[in-house]
Amino acid sequence: MESSAAPTVSAGQDAGPAPVDLLRRLRARGAGDPVTHVERVPARVGVPAPWPAWAPPELRAAFARRGVVAPWQHQAEAATLAYEGGHVIVATGTASGKSLAYQLPALATLLADPRATVLYLAPTKALAADQLRAVADLTLEGVRPACYDGDTPRAEREWIRRHSRFVLTNPDMLHHGILPGHAQWSGFLRRLAYVVIDECHTYRGVFGSHVAHVLRRLRRQCARFGATPVFVLASATSGDPATAAGRLTGLPVTAVTEDASPRGGVTFALWEPPLLPPDSSASPPVPPQATGEHDELRQVRRSALRETADLLADTVAEGVRTLAFVRSRKGAEVVAANARRALDDAVPGLGDRVAAYRGGYLREERRELERALLHGDLLGLASTNALELGVDLVGLDAVLICGYPGTRASLWQQAGRAGRSGQEALAVLVARDDPLDTYLVHHPEAIFGAPVEATVLDPANPYVLAPQLACAAVEAPLTPADLALFGDGAKEAIDQLVEAGALRQRPTGWYWRHRERPEVDLRGEGGAPVVVVESSTGRLLGTVDGGSSHFLLHPGAVYLHQGVSYVVDDLDLADGCALVHVEEPDWSTHARDVTDLSVVSVRSYVDAGPVGMFLGEVDVTSQVVSYQRRRIATGEVIDTRPLDLPTRELRTVAVWFTLSPRSLASAGVQQADVPGALHAAEHAAIGLLPLMATCDRWDIGGLSTALHPDTEAPTVFVYDGHPGGAGFAERAYGTASAWLRATRDAIAECGCETGCPSCVQSPKCGNGNNPLSKPDAIRVLDVVLGNLPA
Ligand SMILES: [Zn+2]
Ligand SMILES: [Zn+2]
Repeated sequence: MESSAAPTVSAGQDAGPAPVDLLRRLRARGAGDPVTHVERVPARVGVPAPWPAWAPPELRAAFARRGVVAPWQHQAEAATLAYEGGHVIVATGTASGKSLAYQLPALATLLADPRATVLYLAPTKALAADQLRAVADLTLEGVRPACYDGDTPRAEREWIRRHSRFVLTNPDMLHHGILPGHAQWSGFLRRLAYVVIDECHTYRGVFGSHVAHVLRRLRRQCARFGATPVFVLASATSGDPATAAGRLTGLPVTAVTEDASPRGGVTFALWEPPLLPPDSSASPPVPPQATGEHDELRQVRRSALRETADLLADTVAEGVRTLAFVRSRKGAEVVAANARRALDDAVPGLGDRVAAYRGGYLREERRELERALLHGDLLGLASTNALELGVDLVGLDAVLICGYPGTRASLWQQAGRAGRSGQEALAVLVARDDPLDTYLVHHPEAIFGAPVEATVLDPANPYVLAPQLACAAVEAPLTPADLALFGDGAKEAIDQLVEAGALRQRPTGWYWRHRERPEVDLRGEGGAPVVVVESSTGRLLGTVDGGSSHFLLHPGAVYLHQGVSYVVDDLDLADGCALVHVEEPDWSTHARDVTDLSVVSVRSYVDAGPVGMFLGEVDVTSQVVSYQRRRIATGEVIDTRPLDLPTRELRTVAVWFTLSPRSLASAGVQQADVPGALHAAEHAAIGLLPLMATCDRWDIGGLSTALHPDTEAPTVFVYDGHPGGAGFAERAYGTASAWLRATRDAIAECGCETGCPSCVQSPKCGNGNNPLSKPDAIRVLDVVLGNLPA
């Protein structure tokens, strides 16, 4: 299928081959055409706006020195809304100049009012450091911008609190440092005019829910000092940004979404690596499993990594400056290494013009890579999405995206690196062996015709709300007036904290009863964090939250930290410590668990004759029992090794559907095939849920059974993998028929015969992908869709 009209290409000065010609040559390389769709994204002409009348000449001159002659329409609109006191979110594409939208009102206010202050929040320290540089370079009198984070020397902290009027930090520092120390910050908070929340789409799920309450705590402290700051948020393009920003801040927020910056045209191809011939030597036989489990995840398609490496080599050979996005650091290195090898085979020395980028580089190193790529010294770069944030790398000739990055928002962010103004560029999405990727390359309308996902967070999650209220109570006793601020469930959570002895109720409010502060990790989810220590040096490398430690730090696990690979020797759960040593094996590890589930309560349901659709609380008991080692380059399974770890309990939110045995029988599903049918449908449904919500399949768990004791029927459960739920199951319930329709189509349209990783097999199955019945999964979903109201 090819829907694009013939593009008109205006060749720029040093333009490489036109994207259409380049794509024609790339797709003609092998047997069969791997391209399933070509979309032409037209160029856009920029719409400038005059400087707002309120912007002082001094500030205009400072921006002019930086090359900003006039703002774009969206920048001016958002800036004026904020300057006039409205809370605003600007949600536009990569490199659309979102920072001007908040810098303009914030800095104009600092210049007009010599006492006012601004607090800027970024999700990463690197981004805050870049932003500091940008503000400092404007050299405005009396602003004194400064970063305040974990790396700020003690000696400088007091100076910053007293004298800086533009403090750049991150939500963790606000939570652990600034809010608990509000007395020392009272001068700054009392004068706080603006809170800027950059890259706010990264605050999603449980982490986003925590950040939402940290912001409410900030608003509460400001109110105590008499300040009501204006919130300005910047986001990648996202669905319904006003609602997401409202949930995040608890305030009414106006969205500015019309991107008025100029953009070059992009030819966007969807690319599905070919099926391997049945007895191909490129598909090595899978060795017998150590635990005697069924063989699984046999490769039936050429891997996306190999395909991307070949494409990178081909574009570089054509002199096209290309950026390849790969999901893992190791994967990025494999892509770069393979491309280098192929290029050196063709022209010795040409391989030197390809590099891999990993996170953790210093700013200067990143700038050097950017410079080399933009000047053409370097022609190809394979990178993780670490480049998505805070890196000024746009205007490339081609972008290769190895595997769907999880959301349309990220996809557009990555593709947005391609295309200079007035010049055409190429973007290629290379599908991985995964149901979601397969679905997308066969349903271009789900990419090009659909709005980007809404950012999902749930501040009412009791597992987030209660610890955050405890933190708030330490900062100042809670009063009935605070209940509205913290939203639904706040009263119940306070009652529980009183019952647990954490809070005491007095006539003036609820008081924290302990000497020490509660330990609350914004990124953690219950369970004390496990520290990762290098055995030979005793060096602390990092921490992993308790919930993930069984998966990530079991003995034998390969653990990546800042681009360096370690292998875990021992996980001591009693001490909360994992010992590791440096080692870079050429395999990755994948933990597997077994799961049991019981229904606690039903929140909502749809009775659809033989089909029932439910949303409710469940208790999940799981145990990590083994792990697989897989070759990084090919995904080939080396072996499966047993583990001896304790079980864990999770109270969370699930969506589930039931079917009557009779409806299954009349749809032609034999009784013996019911377990395989449900199991296959469950896997694919989990794989497709990220189409509906900003989650990863790793955020979600599932369980299917031919007869569940609580539902007394054949049932498929899909649950949030986070205590209390993160909003994903709720979203799945709300979009059930669209979600399951996409699931059904993904299975039906996969070209394999009996099921493969592109449709019904799961890389994290606790049952070794057995049993699975692909044709019966389609029948199951047809029954559900045939009865469920649309
Ligand atoms: Zn398949
Ligand atoms: Zn499974």
